[in-house]
Amino acid sequence: MMVSQEEILDIFKKSNALLEGHFQLTSGLHSNQYFQCALVLQYPEYCSFLAEQLKEKMASLGDPDFVIGPALGGVTLAYELARAFGVKGIFAERKEGEMLIRRGFSVPEGSKAIVVEDVVTTGGSVKEVIKVLEQKKVQILSVASIVDRSSGTAEFGAYPFNPLFQMDVQTFEPENCTLCQKNIPITKPGSRKQ
Ligand code: ZN
Repeated sequence: MMVSQEEILDIFKKSNALLEGHFQLTSGLHSNQYFQCALVLQYPEYCSFLAEQLKEKMASLGDPDFVIGPALGGVTLAYELARAFGVKGIFAERKEGEMLIRRGFSVPEGSKAIVVEDVVTTGGSVKEVIKVLEQKKVQILSVASIVDRSSGTAEFGAYPFNPLFQMDVQTFEPENCTLCQKNIPITKPGSRKQ
C-alpha cells in the first residue's frame, strides 16, 4: 500500500526539514516556508523508505538498468532507489555549467533509466540529465522525485513524472512580501549558489 501524504509530511517534520519563517529562495522570491530535503535524506531509513515508495509507484513501468540523479540533490536518492530496484545508481554533474556523466559511469545505448531528483521546482536539472541520456540513446522510463514543488507545472516531454509529494509553497515578490513589510529578518537557506 502506498504511503499517505500525511505520513510523508510527518517524516519531513520529524527531520526538521520543513522550516517556517522568512526565506529568500534560489528563485529570488520570498516565502514563509523552506524545505531542505537533505535533512530528510540524511536519515538512511527515511531515504530507503521513500525510495521503496517511489519504486512501488513506478511498478507498472518495469525495471530500469540504472537510476540516475543530478548532483547534488539527486545523488543519495538515486542510490537508494537503485538499491530498491537492485540496479546501479549513478549521478550526473555540472562541469563549467554543462551537465555531464563523468567518472567512467557506463550508460549503454538502449539501456533503460529512471531519472530522480529530491525536489523538482522547475525541473531544470532533470531536463539537462534527460538531454544527456537522449544523446546516448538511453530509454527513459520515468522521472521521479520525492517532492514536486512546481504546482503541477513540471513536465518532461514524453516521459511520465512520478513525484511522491505535492508541496504548494506560498511565495512573494520581494517588493510585495508581507513578511518584509513586518520587518521579519530574512534568511537565505543553503542554495546551489553558496
Ligand atoms: Zn520578504
